[in-house]
Amino acid sequence: MIQELALRLLPCQAASETALREFLVREYALDSKAIEAVRILKRSIDARKRQVMVNLSVRVYVNEKPQDDIYQRIEYQNVASKPAVVVVGAGPAGLFAALRLIELGLKPVVLERGQDVHTRRKDIARISREHLVNSESNYCFGEGGAGAFSDGKLYTRSKKRGSVERILNILCQHGASTAILSDAHPHIGTDKLPAVIENIRRTILTSGGEVYFGTRVDELLFDKECVIGVKTCCGKIFSGPVILATGHSARDVYRYLHRSGIELEAKGFAVGVRLEHPQELIDRIQYHSPDGRGEYLPAAEYSFVTQVEGRGVYSFCMCPGGFVVPAASAPEQIVVNGMSPSNRGSKWANSGMVVEIRPEDLPNYNKDNVLAGLEFQEELEHCCFVNGSRQTAPAQRMTDFVNRKNSFDLPASSYAPGVLASPLHFWMPEFITGRLRQGFLHFGKLSHGFLTREALMIGVETRTSSPVRIPRDGEQLHHIRLEGLYPCGEGAGYAGGIVSAAIDGERCAEALAGKIFNNYISL
Ligand SMILES: Cc1cc2nc3c(=O)[nH]c(=O)nc-3n(C[C@H](O)[C@H](O)[C@H](O)COP(=O)(O)OP(=O)(O)OC[C@H]3O[C@@H](n4cnc5c(N)ncnc54)[C@H](O)[C@@H]3O)c2cc1C
Repeated sequence: MIQELALRLLPCQAASETALREFLVREYALDSKAIEAVRILKRSIDARKRQVMVNLSVRVYVNEKPQDDIYQRIEYQNVASKPAVVVVGAGPAGLFAALRLIELGLKPVVLERGQDVHTRRKDIARISREHLVNSESNYCFGEGGAGAFSDGKLYTRSKKRGSVERILNILCQHGASTAILSDAHPHIGTDKLPAVIENIRRTILTSGGEVYFGTRVDELLFDKECVIGVKTCCGKIFSGPVILATGHSARDVYRYLHRSGIELEAKGFAVGVRLEHPQELIDRIQYHSPDGRGEYLPAAEYSFVTQVEGRGVYSFCMCPGGFVVPAASAPEQIVVNGMSPSNRGSKWANSGMVVEIRPEDLPNYNKDNVLAGLEFQEELEHCCFVNGSRQTAPAQRMTDFVNRKNSFDLPASSYAPGVLASPLHFWMPEFITGRLRQGFLHFGKLSHGFLTREALMIGVETRTSSPVRIPRDGEQLHHIRLEGLYPCGEGAGYAGGIVSAAIDGERCAEALAGKIFNNYISL
């Protein structure tokens, strides 16, 4: 017999499979020996009231073993002799495009400017240790893309939610914990993500695809109005239609496309700071308890959003139990972002606190300057770089920022290259700081204790999303009017985050296969 139950449990009752089984035996009068398996289908935490509860939807197998796997496996065929498709970029968009191409009977040839995820780990360590940013292998560039060393949060506000489960299943097939299938806010963690990415590469290679690292694409190759391949930094040519999944940090790619007369359009994005609190404080606030999260609850999350003078001010990419990281993709830039290990066990909680920016807000924007947003990001990132060749970041206590005062000392921070007190309220543009200040005052009212001198703002968070879009031919067809070119993922301006980029990768592969096989293929 299989029973599906909706349970509302105390955190201690949901903390382990043993505790859950004990609960089922006691409350549902089940024989403990008869329970063959308990599968959690959905799991969420309800922290709205003083007593925090865990909502579980479970499937209990009584005197019956599960017949199916927890996740659905995809069989990847061998495509070694099939038509080649060039995939530029091995981030989530490029990797999921490659996997989908294999399913559809095409051979992906993945070209990645950065290094494999293992080598990349060393380059990333050098940023914190030696303050050296390798412009081809860093937090943004390399196998796995910008999300490889992150919190690995896998939730998305994307409306194309139909395929989210599919993406999560594929991640499980490549080694991610099956907990991501049931958690309301699934995440993988920076310690586990690299192995999943390596397994995806293995699938591509064993299926007859090709993957090249240290291979930056510098040029598209044209035959009349059609893209027929690419030329790399070492002069090598790869032929085939092109999925361009280069992410939003590849500013050289945008500049190249612009020079080549390919249509680009300025779009809205967001800029702000990373805000870091002691995790203990966030636990106390979110779980309404002076004792914090206790033994059974995970590091607490938060999410804030408001409107100030017609623009959104919101928390972004919150990393409970995480670290603030130096995410510059070139020397002489300071860019911050966040990551967490799978256990979210660090002493700190951080999130981007950002202000929505529309092209018309920018001083140097006009309709002929579609790269104004990109130039604005660059300027701000360079402004933060005041300290010789170091990655030390400008920082200010949250309350000092709100009160427009200098910080004479700073609280401890997880940001490994170090922080330096700086009056962010004074030198960052007023159209950002003014709104951020009002946003903080509002969030402090909503959540008592959140606006505190213990919180540290670290500048700057500029890489929230792309300031540029490569317009495509409608939502269904993922290519542009130029035949043979399929701009994809966050860099194309059609995705934001790991899952939505992966979904977009799949959709681009389908549009391309549809064109090749003269038949639109949809899931
Ligand atoms: C530190 C950090 C933490 C993050 N945390 C999360 C999170 O927890 N959850 C979440 O959903 N999102 C997170 N993000 C955002 C997320 O990583 C991106 O939204 C996502 O990776 C975008 O995927 P993409 O494939 O479109 O682009 P990218 O991931 O940017 O991948 C683009 C790839 O193309 C390569 N490339 C660029 N130019 C060229 C070229 N000319 N030739 C060859 N290759 C090229 C790059 O090296 C890169 O590997 C985080 C980002 C960072 C930096």
